[in-house]
This record gives sequence, C-alpha cells and structure tokens, in this order.
Amino acid sequence: MTRYRMEGLDCPVCAQGLEDGLKKFEGVRGVTVDFATLTLHVDALDVAAVEAEAKRLEPGLGLLRISAESKAAIAADSGDGSAAMGWIRDLLPVALATGIAVAAFLLEGRAPAALPRWALHLPYILAWLIAGGEVLGGAIRNIGRGRVFDELFLMSIATIGAMLIGQYEEAVGVMVLYRLGEFLQESAIARSRSSMRALLDLRPSVARIRRGPEWLSLPSEEVGSGDLLLVLPGEAIPADGIIESGESLIDTKALTGESAPREAGPGTELMGGFIALDGALEIRASRPVSESQASRIATLVEGASARKAKTERLVTRLASWYTPLVVLLAALVAFVPPLFIPGARLAEWGYRALVMLVISCPCALVISIPLGYFAGIGGAARAGILVKGGEVIDGLARVSTVVFDKTGTLTEGSFEVVKVEARAGQSEDELVLLAAMAESRSSHPIAKALIDEGARRRMSAAASAVTFAAREYPGRGVVARIDGRDVLVGNARLLAESATIPALPAEVPGATSIFVAIDGAYAGRILAGDRTKVEAARSLRELEALGIDRIAMLTGDAQEPARKVAATLGIVDVRAALTPEGKLRELETIMNDHGPGRQNGPGQAAGAGAARGRGGLMFVGDGTNDAPVIARADVGVALGAGTDAAVETADLVILSGNLGQVSAAIRHARRTKRIIGQNIVFALGIKSAFLVLGAAGLAGMWFAVIADVGVAILAVLNATRALRTARDAAKA
Ligand code: ADP
Ligand code: MG
Repeated sequence: MTRYRMEGLDCPVCAQGLEDGLKKFEGVRGVTVDFATLTLHVDALDVAAVEAEAKRLEPGLGLLRISAESKAAIAADSGDGSAAMGWIRDLLPVALATGIAVAAFLLEGRAPAALPRWALHLPYILAWLIAGGEVLGGAIRNIGRGRVFDELFLMSIATIGAMLIGQYEEAVGVMVLYRLGEFLQESAIARSRSSMRALLDLRPSVARIRRGPEWLSLPSEEVGSGDLLLVLPGEAIPADGIIESGESLIDTKALTGESAPREAGPGTELMGGFIALDGALEIRASRPVSESQASRIATLVEGASARKAKTERLVTRLASWYTPLVVLLAALVAFVPPLFIPGARLAEWGYRALVMLVISCPCALVISIPLGYFAGIGGAARAGILVKGGEVIDGLARVSTVVFDKTGTLTEGSFEVVKVEARAGQSEDELVLLAAMAESRSSHPIAKALIDEGARRRMSAAASAVTFAAREYPGRGVVARIDGRDVLVGNARLLAESATIPALPAEVPGATSIFVAIDGAYAGRILAGDRTKVEAARSLRELEALGIDRIAMLTGDAQEPARKVAATLGIVDVRAALTPEGKLRELETIMNDHGPGRQNGPGQAAGAGAARGRGGLMFVGDGTNDAPVIARADVGVALGAGTDAAVETADLVILSGNLGQVSAAIRHARRTKRIIGQNIVFALGIKSAFLVLGAAGLAGMWFAVIADVGVAILAVLNATRALRTARDAAKA
C-alpha cells in the first residue's frame, strides 16, 4: 500500500470520480481516495503509472508520497507559510466584489438619467466576475472533463440565471457568500485535519544520543537500535527502548490514553512518545524511530481512512446523482408552471428554480460525514484506541455480544508458581528445571512463570542443556528434547495426546495445572496462579450498562480454573479446555445462535460489513493463541500491542491493555455515529425544507445561500466534536 497526500483536489465528487477512474486502471488492485484527509491509498504493481494516470484524470493534482518517516508530509500541509497566502487568495476577491457591489448600489440613485440601463449593471457584472471567476472557471474546466453536475456548476448557473432575470445584487451576493462559506468551511476542515495529524506526531524531533564520550543532540531520525539515549525530566522519549539507568514517573497518555503516570526503572520497556516526568533516564533504543510503535500507530490511523464505512460510500454515491436530480427538478419548476398555470410568469418561477439550485449543493453531507468518521478515529487514537477504519466504527456501535479470552485478557496473564507436585521418586527441582528449560523459547505467560520459578530456585536453565530442541503446540504446551530426554509440558490435552498416561490428578479451581511428562511417563505437575485484572469486574458491568446483552468467555485453560475466574466476574457462558481451532468453532456457534452474523470465511479482513440485523459480535483477546478468533469476529480487539499478529489482524487495538477501554471504545463509536447521524438529518432536513420553501416562492436566494453555507459549516464543526470524546469517555 502506497499513500499520498493530495493537493489541489477541491470537490468530493471529483474525489469519487478519481477513485472510480483509478479503479479501472490496469494493474490496480485497490485504491481509495479519502477527501476528508486528502489521502490517496494505492495498492498497485506500478505505482508510478498510477501516479501519472491520477494526474491525467485530475490535472493540477499534487501528490506527495507519505512514508512513516517523512515528517515532511505532515509539515507540508500544516501549511505555515501558505496559510496567509490562502487568506489573501480567498478573501481579497470577496472583499473587492463586496465593495464594488455596495458602491454601485449606493450610487445607483444618483446616476445621471442619460446613462443606459445596462451601464448600471456593469459594476455588478464586474463584481460577480471578481468574486466568482474562479468558480466559473472551475465549472467550465469540469464540464470539459465530462463532469457536468457539481457545486461549481450549480453556483454558476444559479447566479447567471439570476442576472438574466435582472437580479444583479443577488447574483453578486450569492457568489460572495458562497466563497465566504467555502473559506470558513475549508479552514474548519484544515484545522481538524491538522489537529489529528498533530495527535499522530508524537515523537520529539531531536534526540540526545551517546556518540563516543559525548551526548550529541541529533535529529531523532538518526537513532539506531542499540544507541544510548539521554532523556531529561519533562522530555518526551524519542524512540522505543529499555531503561538502562535512572528512574522516573512516566506519562504514557499520548499513546495509551492512560491518565495515571506509571513508575519505571532499569529494565522497563518504554515507547517513543512517552514522557519522563521527574527523573533523567538513559535508554537503550531497541529500534529506529521509523519502526517505532508510535510510527506504527500513525500508519495504522492514517491507513484507517482506506476502510470506509458504508455510510461514507453511500453519501459520495448519493452526491453523484443527487445534483443532476435537483437540476432536473429545478428545470421542471421553472418551465412547467408557466406553460400550464394561467398567469404564471417564467421570471417568477425561474427565480424559484434558481433558489433551489443554490440550496441543492450536497457539500455539507459529502464533507462532514467522512470527516465525522475520521474525527472519530482520531479521537479514539487519543485515548490509545486504534480503530482501523470507518467501518469498524459502524461495527463497534452495533456490538451486542462481547466474547473474552481468559488468560492475559480478563486475567493479568502473569502466572506465579504456587505449588509443585512431583510424583514419588521425582525430584521437585529437577521437575521445575526440565519444565523451565522446555519453556525457554516460548513466549506464553505460563512459560515465563516456569522460567521465573527456575530462576528463583537458582537453576540456570541454559547451563546444563547439552542438546536441546523444542516445539510449541499453541493452546496445549511444549514438547522438548533435552539431553536425550523427551519432556512434555502442557495441559491435560497435550499429555493425553502424546504420552501414555494412566490418569492425571484432577484440576483444581484456583490455579492452572501444568503437567509434566518425562520420556512418556507422568512426572508431576506445577500449579500456577493468575489474578483477574483489577478493572475486569467493573468493565464487565460497564458493558452491561451499555446494553450488551451477552458476555461469554473462551479459554484454552481447563474447566476448573476457568469457572473460578468466570464466577468471580459473573460470567455465565464459559467455554473451556479449547484448542485455538476450538475457540474459533465456539465463536462461530455464538455468532450463529445470536442471529444473522456476517458470512465470511476466516482470513478475510474482519469487520468488512459487520453483522447486519441484531448487532455484532466483538472478541477481545490478548493475541496469544487467539489471532484467528480476533480475525473472525465482527469486531476483533487486541488488548495491548503485545503480538504483531494480533495487532495486524485486529480491527481495534487497545494499547494500554486496560479492559475499561473496551466499553469506552463502544461508547465513543456510538457517540461518533450519533454525531454523523445528526449531520445527515440536519443537512437533509434543512435542504429539503429550503427546497420546498424555494419552490413555493417563500425563500429568496439570500436565504438559500446563507442556509446552505451555514449547514455546511455547522456540520463540519459538529463532526469535529468526535475528536474530543474518547478520552473523556475513557475517564468516565
Ligand atoms: P487462554 O485461552 O486462556 O488464553 P491459551 O490458549 O494460550 O489460553 O492456552 C491454553 C492452555 O494451554 C493453557 O491454559 C495451558 O494449560 C496450555 N498451554 C499453552 N501454552 C503453554 C505453554 N507454553 N506451556 C505450558 N502450557 C501451555
Ligand atoms: Mg490468551
């Protein structure tokens, strides 16, 4: 996927036209043109050819390639220098035209009687040309490209028509107000775009890097993995890394949305973008800035606009036939009554038709809806919730079932060995040692517990291993060959499958049993305890308060410990002792008996058209052994950015790993949808009201243009409210 920032694309319908045109271009696998963020996403073999084609379709289009490292892309359109130019370019003609028209109006009475009537109209025509020249030019250009019905065209014919029937002041007035409205609207959009970008640009630009005996202040792009960085109190951390020395409270808010600072000391892993509050730190960078988590977040959120919601697509489609329809309607209003109603004059009905044309511009909808989704995604990102597209917002807002993974999701996922039960004749230490060695290459939370236990017993696992090979069976355990001995470490299923075991001791409620077999014979078990997360119970109650009518838990752990956790949290529907494939099967069962879910196979992008009908299903997992389930759910949530697979496949990533963010995400999505809904109802309502008033001769052109511009501005401002909500929702 290649991304570009676009310049010089000025209408939403043009954006849709560009997208449609590029889709037909050879070698293009996928393309999305996002007007709200002015981003072009291209998936093609030959991007250079696509670039050329885009410029052919849309002459004057500027394309600036965005890469994770290029701050240039962000800087380029924060537009410091060009902002002032924009003011002059947009407002000067407006002011000039207004001045001329007002002067003409005031002086009209004093004009010498000898002056012909048309001469009195000249100043207005001049003012109209000054204010509307660009609009007129644009309309003609677009007609030349076969795009007849756009807003530029509407404004041009409406004002030309007004002059033809002698309404010169109104022609100028409409043009001036239209330009003014466009200007206000554009600056509102630009402001919200740039605040979203600022949000994504979390890294400081300068890093203090150790080079030889000295600390050098270098651009943060220079940080390489292994570099030692110095961060002083109050400063942001330039790159991901691990603390070598120093202690500090860390503010993680910018990335995780978590407002309480954490304590950190030697060994703590930190993300670039965190802020060291009260201590100086020396940090060993673990990867270059371009590969940092923050860059990944930025890329994900930027890419999010490629997955458009259905509503967004609908609106752009709507715009392409709505305008011609209104033009047709207006033509009927202008010409039909004068033909059939005695006494109806063309000038009178023609004026009404022009009023309709002025109101009919669909810009308010076409701009505010994608912007609403984008603001929703941006607002979520501020709270550390990465939403991968407008369609995910839709899916989230509809969720009615939430299924949780147990280990690492509802529980901390940090096991501690509570008891070792060696079979008679087997030494406890040797049991733990072999288990720890077998687990030495696993990243499962249980593996960590065993390795820690080994270390606690002061056994160095690596030291005594002469030959070693291990294989992990996801959701079961590990099988290793250590010094010529076969060691199995895992759950009852793994032992039953691979060793000849007469009978295993019964599972106990409070802890997970990790069985160990050596050379095919049962050798004992290690009991490891895990705690439920402190916020788990409250988060589940919050979900219930949101009207989520079904909550279930899936786990690979045995029945007994699973029931214990479920009972503590008040979850009734528990499905335990599942393999990863079993989890997928159970999830599908829940989806099916919950009503018509989405019909698509595993592996397909999740969330693409989330469940219709009765709500959707959300799965929340930590990514260990549950990536397939995350992919299959209508809305797949990865709790924490732990595993790459989960972050890739999830529709939603909750960076802090805090369960409370699950309900916050749903609340935020619902609120975003509400805002978008308000805009749809508001814009369509005002427009249809004015269409009727205009046709009935009850609203003049002045009203129409003010209403039109007003609706667009209000809708854009309303859309940007979605940007502010998630963090407040997270706090509540
Ligand atoms: P959950 O569904 O609770 O997140 P997993 O699917 O990750 O759990 O694992 C299911 C069960 O498989 C665990 O409870 C454990 O008994 C066993 N298991 C998985 N991986 C390992 C491992 N590396 N070592 C020992 N046991 C494991
Ligand atoms: Mg898990």
